[in-house]
Amino acid sequence: MDTLGVMNPRRILFIASEAAPLVKVGGLADVVGALPPALRALGHDVRILLPKYEVIRPELIPIQRTLGPVSIPWQGKSLRVTVQVSTLVGTDVPLYLLDAPEMFAGEAIYYEHNGPGGMRLALERYVFFSWAVGHVLPILNWSPHILHCHDWHTAALPAVLTTSAQPAPVTILTIHNMEGQGKWSPAEIFSWLGLHGDESPLWQLRDQANNLNLLQLGIHGADAVTTVSPTYAKEIVIPEFGAGLETDLASRRGGVMGILNGIDAAHFNPAVDASLHARYDSQSVTVGKLANRRALLRELQLDYGLGPLFGFVGRLTGQKGVDLISAAVPDIVRGGGNLVVLGSGSPDIERAIKQAAADFPGAVRAVVKFDAQLAQRIYAASDFFLMPSRFEPCGLGQMIAMCYGALPIVRDTGGLHDTVSDLREAAGGTGLVFRHSDPQEFRDVIHEALRLYAEVDTMTMARQRGMSQDFSWTRSAQAYGHLYRHVHPTA
Ligand code: ADP
Repeated sequence: MDTLGVMNPRRILFIASEAAPLVKVGGLADVVGALPPALRALGHDVRILLPKYEVIRPELIPIQRTLGPVSIPWQGKSLRVTVQVSTLVGTDVPLYLLDAPEMFAGEAIYYEHNGPGGMRLALERYVFFSWAVGHVLPILNWSPHILHCHDWHTAALPAVLTTSAQPAPVTILTIHNMEGQGKWSPAEIFSWLGLHGDESPLWQLRDQANNLNLLQLGIHGADAVTTVSPTYAKEIVIPEFGAGLETDLASRRGGVMGILNGIDAAHFNPAVDASLHARYDSQSVTVGKLANRRALLRELQLDYGLGPLFGFVGRLTGQKGVDLISAAVPDIVRGGGNLVVLGSGSPDIERAIKQAAADFPGAVRAVVKFDAQLAQRIYAASDFFLMPSRFEPCGLGQMIAMCYGALPIVRDTGGLHDTVSDLREAAGGTGLVFRHSDPQEFRDVIHEALRLYAEVDTMTMARQRGMSQDFSWTRSAQAYGHLYRHVHPTA
């Protein structure tokens, strides 16, 4: 036992491209920022290794020590890198920053603003990152039992370790979304690394388009592969969800494990949330939400409908099924409801939802921007929260909605399946679930919500059940702790 009384703690190094609050593009950052402190609270020695991007504000990463330098062969030259040691702000998690200014300069993380040419730059950046991690492990003065990689950006690491001399630690790959894979010409990648490509069987893998595919390397090379919900883990072995790597995933001995993400329960708490018009808890949920709804409708200059308020907060992309919401707007309005949509994303989808809202100016509003405070007010004001996603690896919106007493209306997929149960089917239901990405089916579930809203006691009890769910990171950390002990049985 260690000093915290935890049996067999492990040493684990998270290797990732993002970590909140230092550098965030999507939900990956939330996981990498929140899971290590939760694991440390269980007694594991977890540390994080990130690229030292120029965009990270220096005051957030006070440097305690510099390790190295190490010379790394890259594109026929030798690149000098160091590792700077800091602590993840607001936590006790040791943070290693790989400092290679030639590779991590500039405004963007994934070259997301660089148009079509951005993909090559991103590939170079993350192939280099994984390659460099393999070279700096010996200078950390700390030897992890497990390297925990995340998404395609660090999925090449198991392959990199086959070409480095030291005894390789155990590797875990967590897939946060199958959409990003890191595909590129093998010849070019091998020329960057100075490899022939026959150094190990992993380097000889090719995807369906004959590319070297970094996510595929991780799927075959990691000792364990996980994803962010049990249902998404089952879905990604079939073509509809596997994005071309379904056979690779299905062929893994030991399968793919699904562990649900958590949310920051202290932050998403309507009893203390300073961005709300009125604070409330599960006892005062009905009046609290009513006050928030009145205030939000006033803020957005909407008329108060006699039916429920439906809310949506999220990226306006094909994944999120916003077209189903656009098609159901007339049903919501005819049923006396209000609808508030907050999001940004694809210009076509932004235009379509704005048009659908413009047809009913007193009842519906589409706000196209990113606004974390307004998002909280929408969660608090909504009676029903819409997530008609086509696929959803885990999804945070439905969990946040339940913390705020909004009943999620979700498609039966991925993490939505694992976190929401249908009020019509289960006595302890917390929302409404529909099966197919079909406009009529979605309109039917909207009509069910309009009907349900009149049943005040049923609504209140369902809200309270949602608010009492445990979506904490502690629960996720316990599941990862189990996995760490399984892949590395002796500490
Ligand atoms: P994904 O990671 O696929 O974007 P999630 O549901 O897992 O979807 O997480 C999205 C998170 O981002 C939620 O916390 C949601 O509230 C927040 N969010 C998304 N779009 C916006 C926006 N336009 N303004 C404020 N918050 C947003």
